Amino acid sequence: MDYLSTRANAPAADFENVLLAGLAPDGGLYMPARWPQFAPGEIAAFRGKAYSEVAAAVMARFTGAVFSEADLRALAADAYGGFDHRDVAPIVQVGEEDWILELFHGPTLAFKDFAMQVLGRMFGAVLGRRGERLTIIAATSGDTGAAAIYALTACDRVDIVVLHPEGRVSDVQRRMMTTVDAPNVCNIAVKGAFDDCQAIVKDLFADRAFAETARLSGVNSINWARLAAQTVYYVTAHAALAEENETVSFVVPTGNFGDVFAGYAAKRMGLPIKRLGVATNANDILHRALTAGDYVPAAVAPTRSPSMDIQVASNFERLLFEALDRDGAALRAMMEAFKNTRAMHLDDNIRARMATDFASFAVSEAETLAEIKRHHAETGALIDPHTAVGRRAARALRETGALAGKVVALSTAHPAKFPDAVEQATGVRPDLPPAFADLFDRPETVLTAPADAKAVKTLILKHLEHRSGR
Ligand SMILES: *Cc1c(COP(=O)(O)O)cnc(C)c1O
Repeated sequence: MDYLSTRANAPAADFENVLLAGLAPDGGLYMPARWPQFAPGEIAAFRGKAYSEVAAAVMARFTGAVFSEADLRALAADAYGGFDHRDVAPIVQVGEEDWILELFHGPTLAFKDFAMQVLGRMFGAVLGRRGERLTIIAATSGDTGAAAIYALTACDRVDIVVLHPEGRVSDVQRRMMTTVDAPNVCNIAVKGAFDDCQAIVKDLFADRAFAETARLSGVNSINWARLAAQTVYYVTAHAALAEENETVSFVVPTGNFGDVFAGYAAKRMGLPIKRLGVATNANDILHRALTAGDYVPAAVAPTRSPSMDIQVASNFERLLFEALDRDGAALRAMMEAFKNTRAMHLDDNIRARMATDFASFAVSEAETLAEIKRHHAETGALIDPHTAVGRRAARALRETGALAGKVVALSTAHPAKFPDAVEQATGVRPDLPPAFADLFDRPETVLTAPADAKAVKTLILKHLEHRSGR
């Protein structure tokens, strides 16, 4: 399987290079040269299979010769063996035609574990074969950081540097990152928003000399390997509740447009998905883009669903590439203009194409709290604020007719990751699972930096110097 850059100015790459590089050298995002296809009968045959078996069969389409299906079977069994539910991604029926797909049974209680547990093992295997080391740098809006740290601490061929926006992640999210006491972990709290963290990471990669000295690599959702791993639960959910050719819709709480784009990839591979619902919080740039064509970042508003407090959604570039019939030169011109003007208008033709696959809805803070409360009253169960955004959007999109038939809302985090919001809505404070019972007693280690790439670079160089014992 070959991968192409969305900006058409980089050589084709194989899965190994895509995994290690993250971003393409021309600043674009890697995309599979063509969409692999499911064989007739294959999806129905996944029903009842172990999650890791399906994961291996689906991911093998994307890895080519770099990982065989047998390699992936062992890797996935190991990666998902640590999840605390035997179905790994269980689905729970919450209405006549409504389900919730629980994606929070991994080690850090959010869906980011699905990809990161696989990536950590892939990095270990590939770097071992090559005899190389890497510094993995990640910007996190809250959940990616912990998922990356938990997936990579055991890999002595990598250092992990995680940038999070200071004061803008929940206490549980922060502590999950800062209480991991390992020599290869470096947490940096940046005085700014997630978009600042993401911009710093981009600047550090653009600093070629530094990127080469530090051997920088990325695990943000710009890394195709993550999306490849995330296509799997769309497939298992469909196989569990629908017939081979029956369409199902999915509603996805969305920030960086990675998770919902994985759903789009599954659809392009032939999974019968009717529509993908893009659920945003008050940071609604994607909703505005999909409904009015205005892709114009506003200031980031902190919300109770901080993992979606994002304005510039990196993976949206992948959808634009598709909507432009993969015209990389045209996309490059659009992205360059966007860099200068900080605004992009999608014409009616592009918007109409996107509307065949996507519908969107923006959920306010009051609606988020009301949805947590309603869900608790109706089912007795607690949901986290991100999940509430998705459930609220699912109901709204059904009311407008944008979605019909079977609808699955993705539940992206455990309610105990966001106890304040859940308690505010319901009066009930969710307990952390036993593995984290003493989280608030563990000591934290974290550096702080201004929202400035130079300052962050200095901290990283210091960490690496210390590590190499110089
Ligand atoms: C990361 C995250 C999201 C958003 O996912 P994207 O791939 O960035 O769109 C939603 N919910 C939770 C809990 C997350 O951690």
